Parts: sequence; structure tokens; C-alpha cells
Amino acid sequence: MTVRHRDGIHFEFGDGRRIVADARSAAGDVNVVSHAHADHTFRSTPGTVVCAAETAAIAEARTGVGFEFVERVPGIDLVPAGHVVGSRAAIVDRDRLSLGESLEPQPERGDADHRRYCYTGDFSIRDRCYLEGFDPTAVETDVLVMETTYGRPAYRFPPQEELEAAIVDWIRDNDERPLFLFGYSLGRAQKLQWLARAATGGVDDGSDAERDVLVADSIHEVNRAIEAATDLSFPGRPYDSLRGLEDEIVVLPSNQARADWVERAVDREDGLKAGFSGWAVDDGFRYRGNYDVTFPLTDHCDFDDLVATVEAIDPAVVYTHHGFDAAFATTLETEYGYRARPLKRDQRTLAEFS
Ligand SMILES: [Zn+2]
Repeated sequence: MTVRHRDGIHFEFGDGRRIVADARSAAGDVNVVSHAHADHTFRSTPGTVVCAAETAAIAEARTGVGFEFVERVPGIDLVPAGHVVGSRAAIVDRDRLSLGESLEPQPERGDADHRRYCYTGDFSIRDRCYLEGFDPTAVETDVLVMETTYGRPAYRFPPQEELEAAIVDWIRDNDERPLFLFGYSLGRAQKLQWLARAATGGVDDGSDAERDVLVADSIHEVNRAIEAATDLSFPGRPYDSLRGLEDEIVVLPSNQARADWVERAVDREDGLKAGFSGWAVDDGFRYRGNYDVTFPLTDHCDFDDLVATVEAIDPAVVYTHHGFDAAFATTLETEYGYRARPLKRDQRTLAEFS
């Protein structure tokens, strides 16, 4: 098997068959959708699409386009990736794989030792709010293909409980002004609503002291899709940017942080803006979003989580992609003694090891 980074990550067999993960226009024999962040255009794909039912439901709610999918393929196990609702890592076992009739896997030149491949997709090993983290201790694989967004030591975030408590405290401390919280529509936005509810006592006592939580329409749609597919619920009601506010908590997509309509509403209502991302450890993040405060709340691993993942799995080979892929591969090789390479886009890399 050869692993390549093209449109998505491709696992290629010698006879041309492919498993393709997280491509925009997938054309593999099997297409893995790890989670619903990317824009998938699978309407015309001849291959099988494999993903969690929650991912298909959220993707349809976000794009308006549904697709046929299965939750199981023999030889490909999906395990929770702890990134967003429905996110899955894929573990491919070459010897158990069945890609259709007359498609028996064959031994590959130079790669006889590697039978199992784990593709993490975006992942986090931390339990957060309502989401359980990826469990690397349960994964057995020869080859680990991992996302390395925060693969430099500068990106170390506080323990999750401490981080969530700091956010809750900040919300409670600022209870006389509207608060504008910014995060991705899928993932961070739901966790911010969760923390807002925890901060205002809305979970347990349902008292009148609860502050209203308002959300952008795009977030509301994702909420509804998740609520329909799971037993989770989120407090956000649709936000009308023209209405006057008192002490409401408004959750908006992070790409709107500097939008004129947002800045006008924040100024008019004397609100505070808070940004949430792992990039918050960089000074520039605060200024780019014009935030009053930032927190390194993320749905990805920090540097230490990435190292802990590799050590727990202890694979023969690691391929890194996204973010600081080259730096992290170098760290794994020089400081931890692993065979590691960044998966550079459009470059064949497995051959380097054979
Ligand atoms: Zn993602």
C-alpha cells in the first residue's frame, strides 16, 4: 500500500484500487468521511462512502446535499476521533479488507510488514463537554497517518478542566453585558453553548437567572442536525443582530468576528468579544479577531497530546499531515526515535521507507 496526500489522503494498492479519506471529490473504491467539516461532493462517486450516521446527517444539514453511505466496511473499523460529533478515525486492516468481488488484496512490494493503517482525521484525545476523546490506547496499527495541526511545542494548552473552568468563570464575571463568543459553527460553537449553559446554571436548576443564549442561523442549523442525530441538546435560539441586548450570550461563527454587522452590534450593545482556538496562544490571534479576550479551546490535540498519541499507539511508521507536519515528524524522529515523515501533497512517500 502506498499513502499519498492528494485531494484527501489516498491509500493505494498496487492494482490501482484506492481507499480515499476526506477528499472533496472522492473517487476511491471506498471513501472515508472522518467528520462533517469538509465540503464533500459525493453525489456522483461510484465508490462506497463510509462514515458515522451523525456525520452524514450534519453534512446534509450544512450543505443541503445528502449522500448514500454505510457505517461499516469489512476491514475498515471506524472509532471515535473525539474531534466533533460523529468524527471517526479509520483503521484499515489490509488482510481483512474486502473492496468488492474479485478485489482480493494482494501483498505489496516493499510493504509486506505493514498490515494495519490508522487514519486519524482531525482528532483530540481530551474529553470535552459532552464529547469523549480519541482513545489511542485502544488502537493497534503498524502505520499511523495523523493530523498535526498544533505540532510545535509552543502549542501546549492548559488541562481541559482548567480551561473550561476559566471560560465559565469569565462568563460569570461578566454578567451585566452581552457577550459575543466566536467559534466554528460545527464543534466549538456547540461547546460554547454548553459552557454558557453551565455558567448560567441552566443545566441543573432552570432558574430565572439563566441568561439567554443566542446563535447565528448557521449554528442553529448545526444544533438541530446534531439534536436530531443524538440525545444532545443546545440552548441557542436564533440571533437577530438588530435587536437590543442586555446580558445575552451570543455565539457566532469565527469567520464573522470582524464582519461589519458584528462590530456594529458589539459597539451598540457595549458587548465583549471572546475568541476560542488553539491559535489563541499566538498574540496575533487576538488582534486578527479584535477580541477582548481569548481562550485556547480547541477540537484538536495540542503538542503534548500528539506526542502522547504516538507513544500510546507505538506504530512502526508515522505520517503527518496538516499544520506543523514537517516539524512534528522531525521531533518524532530526533527526540522520540520514531520513523516519521510529513505527507507532502502530491508526493509519494511510502517508497522512501522501502
Ligand atoms: Zn475538523
